[in-house]
Amino acid sequence: MSAACDHTHAHASGLTGEGLVSEIAAARVTCLARGERLTAPRERVLELLLEASGPSKAYDLMAAFGPGENSAKPPTVYRALDFLTRQGFAHRIESLNAYVACRREGGHSAAFLICDCCGVTREFDPGEGEAVASEARRDGFALSGVTLEAHGLCADCQGAPAA
Ligand SMILES: [Zn+2]
Ligand SMILES: [Zn+2]
Ligand SMILES: [Zn+2]
Repeated sequence: MSAACDHTHAHASGLTGEGLVSEIAAARVTCLARGERLTAPRERVLELLLEASGPSKAYDLMAAFGPGENSAKPPTVYRALDFLTRQGFAHRIESLNAYVACRREGGHSAAFLICDCCGVTREFDPGEGEAVASEARRDGFALSGVTLEAHGLCADCQGAPAA
């Protein structure tokens, strides 16, 4: 993130070690149950999203994907992101043009609290999701998703002492 602040962001961290391994394993099981395949590039992009402390831009994912032979071509990363968002493993944050891993059950409306300082993003269930859905039903509107994005400063960044 382009942190304009002068405090450290120790509170901003993604998944590592066991947590990361079990999350990837769970995604593999979910894919299998749906008759989908978590191919190597899809798995690698999901891993990068889970490791990130905040939303990742596509070009960051391309850069982090892997060295040399394994480095990703843009279409590979975009196709993987498309798969992951369709399957509910990730969400696109429109206001940041970035992606964030989702660890909840797929196919839901999502709301995000986004810290503009450290980039930490917390997903929660938007209360208005059902209101929007019923409005859509009344209009005969085929809803593909509802995403609410709220920007501000997380508690850690507000209270952090200057380094
Ligand atoms: Zn979600
Ligand atoms: Zn900060
Ligand atoms: Zn923050």
